[in-house]
Amino acid sequence: MSANIIDGAKIANNIKKRLRQEIELLKDKGIFPSLVAIQVGENPDSKIYTRSQRKSCEKIGIEYKLHQFKEDVSSKELEKFIEELNEDRKVNGIIIQMPLPSHLDAFTLQRRINPLKDVEGVSPANMGLVVYGRPVLAPCTAMAVMEIIKSTGINLYGKEAVMVGHSDIVGKPVALLLLKEFVTTSVCHIATGERGKLPHYVKEAEILIVAVGKANLIKGEWVKEGAIVIDVGINRVGGKIVGDVEFEKAKEKASYITPVPGGVGPVTTAILLKNTVEATKLQSG
Ligand code: NAP
Repeated sequence: MSANIIDGAKIANNIKKRLRQEIELLKDKGIFPSLVAIQVGENPDSKIYTRSQRKSCEKIGIEYKLHQFKEDVSSKELEKFIEELNEDRKVNGIIIQMPLPSHLDAFTLQRRINPLKDVEGVSPANMGLVVYGRPVLAPCTAMAVMEIIKSTGINLYGKEAVMVGHSDIVGKPVALLLLKEFVTTSVCHIATGERGKLPHYVKEAEILIVAVGKANLIKGEWVKEGAIVIDVGINRVGGKIVGDVEFEKAKEKASYITPVPGGVGPVTTAILLKNTVEATKLQSG
């Protein structure tokens, strides 16, 4: 069997098409969605992300502003700036680009963002709503994973999924969103790997999601015949970008698989835009 290769750009374009229509309707009412990004220091990867965010926003009619801070900016100064953005009625969405320099704590800053403007879904209030099974602005990558799984047309009820990685922004929310759909979900992490149990879990997964950041961690031979494989990982290997799953081998066993690049990434960006439109609507009552 050779898997269907999931086209992330196609899924993203469908989302953006719907958003364009919603944005037109908002503009007719005099509402103009806007997104503000905060970047600290000069990270080359962040530069690529912010450039692509600007392009994606402008293409569908969301105003995008980037505020660049020096590497040594204090937490207090950033917290004050976030408060100002929270108060500014012209700002609908706020994102903080990662990674931050080591003297800054992401959680301390993210919890300052007004939950209604938290378009990355990383504030405690928005994370909490995911726990309660009532996501409003949920973490973008986790929502992207769900959107991709649903695009396969699979009936999720009672399926067995394995989430490899338990980060706050991907692994944990994906596991909770799957539980909401009555998927029996196992979560694997570093200790699972250290005990040598990763193959044991992966082999049982009808739906396998991997978000670790280690190239080829998941061997193709472990993948269950007919599984849906969602590879969130992004790794640079020899000048190439690859995921966490041995793609060529895994695609011979999976029924659906996301490529890296071109899988989860474009959908995550589309969800950021979707959350921005959602936030704008929430703020305009
Ligand atoms: P993270 O915060 O570093 O989390 C990595 C997770 O993997 C942790 O839960 C870690 O467990 C676990 N882990 C480490 N080694 C393991 C092993 N050998 N076996 C099993 N689990 C292991 O990373 P993240 O933010 O979730 O991102 C993960 C990857 O996804 C990265 O490559 C990132 O670049 C990519 N990403 C892509 C997108 C996209 O849109 N495509 C978005 C976000 C992230 P411990 O915490 O216990 O060590």
